[in-house]
Parts: sequence; C-alpha cells; structure tokens
Amino acid sequence: MGLQSLIADLGRALPADALLLKEEERRPYECDGLPVFRELPQVVALPRSEDEVRAVLRACHRHGVPVVARGSGTGLSGGATPHPQGVLLSLARMNRILAIDPQARTARLEPGVRNLQVSEAAAPHGLYYAPDPSSQVACSIGGNVAENSGGVHCLKYGLTVHNVLGVRGYAIDGERIELGGPAPDAPGLDLLSLAVGSEGLLLVVTEVLVKLIARPPCAQLVMASFADVHRAGDAVAAVIAAGIIPAGLEMMDRKATAAVEPFVHAGYDLEAAAVLLVESDGTAAEVADEVAEVERVLKASGATAVRVCTSEAERQRLWSGRKNAFPAAGRLSPDYYCMDGTIPRRHLGRVLEAIEAMEARYKLRCMNVFHAGDGNLHPVILFDANEPGCWERAERFGAEILELCVELGGTITGEHGVGIEKINSMCVQFSPAERAAFCAVKESFDPAGLLNPGKLIPTLARCAEYGRMHVHAGRLPHPELPRF
Ligand SMILES: Cc1cc2nc3c(=O)[nH]c(=O)nc-3n(C[C@H](O)[C@H](O)[C@H](O)COP(=O)(O)OP(=O)(O)OC[C@H]3O[C@@H](n4cnc5c(N)ncnc54)[C@H](O)[C@@H]3O)c2cc1C
Repeated sequence: MGLQSLIADLGRALPADALLLKEEERRPYECDGLPVFRELPQVVALPRSEDEVRAVLRACHRHGVPVVARGSGTGLSGGATPHPQGVLLSLARMNRILAIDPQARTARLEPGVRNLQVSEAAAPHGLYYAPDPSSQVACSIGGNVAENSGGVHCLKYGLTVHNVLGVRGYAIDGERIELGGPAPDAPGLDLLSLAVGSEGLLLVVTEVLVKLIARPPCAQLVMASFADVHRAGDAVAAVIAAGIIPAGLEMMDRKATAAVEPFVHAGYDLEAAAVLLVESDGTAAEVADEVAEVERVLKASGATAVRVCTSEAERQRLWSGRKNAFPAAGRLSPDYYCMDGTIPRRHLGRVLEAIEAMEARYKLRCMNVFHAGDGNLHPVILFDANEPGCWERAERFGAEILELCVELGGTITGEHGVGIEKINSMCVQFSPAERAAFCAVKESFDPAGLLNPGKLIPTLARCAEYGRMHVHAGRLPHPELPRF
C-alpha cells in the first residue's frame, strides 16, 4: 500500500476541495512560526467535521503514514512542521463557536477557532477567555490546548490547562476520546491534563470546552523604569514576595523597548535598561489599593521612575507594544530566534547577566521580553540566516540559555512547547527513566508512533548523540523500549 493508495482512500472520505496535492498548494504548510525547520508534506487534508478527521486518521493508520496536526501554524517550536512522508492535517476549517453558555460560563469550540474570537464572542455577556498568548489574533484553541499556551494574564488566571474543562479528540486509529467535561471533576485518572500540552502526539483535538470568567470592572497598568536589569529582576521577586499577584507582570529590556517604540509609539521609557509592566484588575477599590502597594514596592526596589496609566488608551498602547515585541525584532535583524524557558523568579537578574555574557561569546545580540511574574523568559536571539554558521551559533546560544534554566531549577519550556526545537534539551532536563515513562505514555495512545513523530520525546539514541546518556560497550539502556 503506497501513497497513491492512501490518496485514493482519502479522496473517497473527503470532498475534493479538502485535499491539497499539488506542490504549490502544499508549500504554504511547510513550516510553522519557526521557519528554520521546513518539510513539504505529501498531502494536506483540510477536514470540516469530526467524521472527516476520523476518516483521515483511520486511513493514515491503515497505511502506516505519519500525521501532523496543525492549527494556525503560529507555534514557535516547530511542533507543526510536517513529516516529509506524511499527511498534514489542518484543523483551520473547523472554526465554529458551537455554544456560549453564560449561565455555566463556558464556551464549546471547534479546534480551529482563534483564541481572540472566544473573548469577542463572550464579550456581550461580560465574560472572556483568560489565557491570552500574544499571538491571540491568529492562534487556534486546538493549538493552545496542544501547547498548553500561556500569556500576559496567566500569572493570575492560569495557563490553558487551568482554563480548559474538557476536550474531545481522536486517536490515530480513529477511536473517539472524551476527557474532562462540564462537571467539576471526572472519575478516573486526570488524562485531561495529560492531553493538554501533548503537542499533537497523543490525539487530534476536535472539540474544546473552556471556562469563561467575568471581565473585571477595572484595570490599571503601572510602568516602572530601572537603571539595570538585575534590579528589575529583583523587583519582580519583591512584588510577589509582598503577597501581590498582579494580573500581568512583564519585563522588557532596552533592546526590546527600542525595537517596539518606533512602530507602536507606546510611550516606553527608552532611557531605562529595563521596564516592568504591572497590571492590577478587580473592583475600583481593589485596584486602587493594589496599585498603591505595587508603587511602594517598585520604588523600594530601586525603580528610577514609576508611571501609573491615566487612560485606557495609554494602557492599551503599552500592552500593544509588549504583544508586538516578537514581530518588532524583525526591525533589528533579518531573523530572530525566540527562546522560552522558565526559572525561579529570584534568579531573573542572574540569568539576564549570564545572557549578556553569552551575547559577547556567541557574537549575537539578544533582546529580552519576559512573562517575568511567571519566571518565563523569552530571550529573542537576533541572527542572519544568510550568514554561514550564524543559525548554528544562534541555536547553541539558545541551548545554553535553556541549560542554564535547568541548572537554576527551571524548565526548558514555559509555554511554547518542545516540538523539534527543544528536543535535545529534553535530554538535559529529564533522566532516562523519566524519558522512558514519556515513551510508555506515547506508546499507550499511539503504538505505531504515527502522530507527530520526531517531536517532543527524544529517542534514547538522540540523547546519546547529544551526550546526555551513558551507553556502555555499545549497549543502549532500555533496549526493550520502542524508538519513535
Ligand atoms: C508573534 C507570536 C507571539 C506568540 N506569543 C505567545 C504567547 O504569548 N504565549 C504562548 O503560549 N505562545 C505564544 N506563541 C506561540 C503560539 O502562538 C502558540 O504555541 C499557539 O498555541 C499555537 O497555536 P496554533 O494554532 O498556531 O498551533 P500550531 O502552530 O498550528 O500547532 C502547534 C502544535 O499543536 C499541535 N496541534 C495544533 N492543533 C491541534 C489539534 N487540533 N489537535 C492536536 N494537536 C494540535 C500541532 O501538531 C503542533 O504540535 C506566539 C507565537 C507568535 C508567532
């Protein structure tokens, strides 16, 4: 059974306009938001219903062909990079909001619904969906579930995993999987948390039930300037230590504000080595109290200036600058590589200094934009892919940052996922026994390893090559485990 026979099967299951076979039609799907990795899929399938998704999966399972799910393709870790021998399964046409229930405060969504669309649809009821990735105008709920995405307001309101009540999806053999639901708890193992963040390796998500929350009546934003990044990092730790959980607590260094300001005109302090954006929300009285306390802590932590926004327009402009920080990197350099690691907040200053030293060593500039309150770093390494060896240097620079995160008790990803990009760093973060457990979970959902193979879970051989596994006398540990 070859590719032609798979295409014939898919042709019987889907309408003609749901299959892209010509090279020029498949080419736009060759990469996601990390374009250094590109592969041309053999077929692109664009189903409109769960039945069509199931039919695609069943056909691929029968023919032993890999399948990569794709939402909007904004992922930054190469998770939706196609498999060169596989089918790219785009969920973009399954983009209906199935129900908004203001009583239960939930929304039932097809996976291709864009993140921002959910809050727009809930707005007439005074509700919204809290996780707000900076890519929210474009990224899909299915992609958010697969990556366990975060955003500026996740410090107070939680990540995707904390805001998803249930998912329905299909395994590679077409089996329907229902996890969680509208009731507060479901019997059995908490497989919903396992599915959220599984990067398309366990199931293809076809429906998502999310929590909606009441829009706070009042929100105010404070911008604080610091003369050095170390102090700014320490101020973040001080705000949390004071018992304040702001609605958002972000940091941008001078390179980031300088990149954003000319095109967003947000009004950042361009003299400051780093600025913090601290948002408070709630009732007017709660916000007034919290803002006063935030101002006090920031000043005591060495802020050179503290500005409280006086209008909603000013608040929106400052957030818009933060949310456009990655695209703004394009003004500084032909290419950029956005990293994503976490560290305990108290080490923010130390990591920023270490990154500065790495810039000199790798001869590459790096601007820093952080979800600082979560200890989630987004160093943006600037490079030129046309310069020989430059991407390799950027990649090593990024890997060193992630290794430092692990050394300090953090992790190699806060919200962008592992994908292909951080697969080697998984060998640093996790022990052979932990990686074997990941393989066992994968095998229990997808024994043939057809769903998004080569992503997230490193093979034992890969870790050996990366120098993080001890191979004695040519004998791999755990020879009984399948290599995906
Ligand atoms: C400018 C910019 C800013 C960003 N800011 C943030 C941010 O603030 N926070 C954040 O967390 N991320 C951010 N991201 C990363 C990205 O937007 C998120 O990871 C997002 O959730 C990806 O959604 P997507 O629909 O584009 O998924 P895709 O990129 O299409 O896919 C991502 C992964 O999900 C899998 N997948 C997609 N749909 C399904 C499905 N239905 N079922 C099973 N698996 C599926 C894919 O196989 C892949 O592994 C940013 C990206 C950009 C370009």
